[in-house]
Amino acid sequence: MAASASKYARAFGQPPCKYGNACYQQSRSHWEAFDHPATHPRFQGLASMSSPADDGESRKRKEPPASEPDDAAPLAAAPSVEMAASAPVHQLPVPFTAPPSVPPAAAPATAMPSSLERSLRGVPVPDGWGVHGGSLLVWRHMSPVASPKVGAFDFDGCLARTPLGGNDPNAWSMQFTHVPAVLASLAASGHTLVIVTNESMDRFKKPEAIAAAIRKKCGRLEGFARAVGVPLLVLCASAKDDFRKPGAGCWDYVARHAYPDTPVDKAGSFFVGDAAGRLGDHGDGDREFARAVGIAFFDEKAFFLERHPAGA
Ligand SMILES: [Mg+2]
Repeated sequence: MAASASKYARAFGQPPCKYGNACYQQSRSHWEAFDHPATHPRFQGLASMSSPADDGESRKRKEPPASEPDDAAPLAAAPSVEMAASAPVHQLPVPFTAPPSVPPAAAPATAMPSSLERSLRGVPVPDGWGVHGGSLLVWRHMSPVASPKVGAFDFDGCLARTPLGGNDPNAWSMQFTHVPAVLASLAASGHTLVIVTNESMDRFKKPEAIAAAIRKKCGRLEGFARAVGVPLLVLCASAKDDFRKPGAGCWDYVARHAYPDTPVDKAGSFFVGDAAGRLGDHGDGDREFARAVGIAFFDEKAFFLERHPAGA
């Protein structure tokens, strides 16, 4: 029995469903309790999600206990990612002219280059992550494909609110509730989305301390990426070297290693960050990074509140 489509909507402000686009839950309570990516196939309608074979005993067998509303299993079929007209993102100024595709996780575009190392200063990095040049942590989420237009973002204080202290990998929240909608819109309009973030770990000497710093940063980035549910290339500079903003090493990695066959259109690319040199800012590294690269810069408020305001 097909469920009503009306219950499938974003639940902004709620914790993200850990299965993202692969969640097949049909209960209204689940959809009200957990936020799902704008690219979730439920927003396309029910045809691709619910077939007669999914009903009855087979569906009951696969559904998780009611006491674990977020414990959904991945879909067997690859989800469609075309945006639904009812999704809040339709209010954004960037039109959905080119809905993104989501190739399987094993698609060549996402394969971690074999040149990447699997450890940072002798400490293993999480599954899926790699290390370039001895200090740059690299992760690809949902097959980010090359595009001449690059939309690049700082993480802490720009895309996500994160505490300065502590090592909790789950201690993050959306900087603005409509960040996922804006990123989905940019992905749909053909931007390659890249997170460029600094996380100095070279002051740590003990492997346990390095491992804790890696777990914290990678966990927050993974949680964020899965919550927004759009393809992302994530670059984290872990040492005080040229990968660290305002150094342009991360941009060189994008151009020379991540997407060497796709020249970047700098006029159509931009960087957003909160280290903008404003009164009270902790620095101007983000603004200087954009200047060094030669692309447009927006601070987080100018971008998310003025250029792409919620409900615009
Ligand atoms: Mg920042």
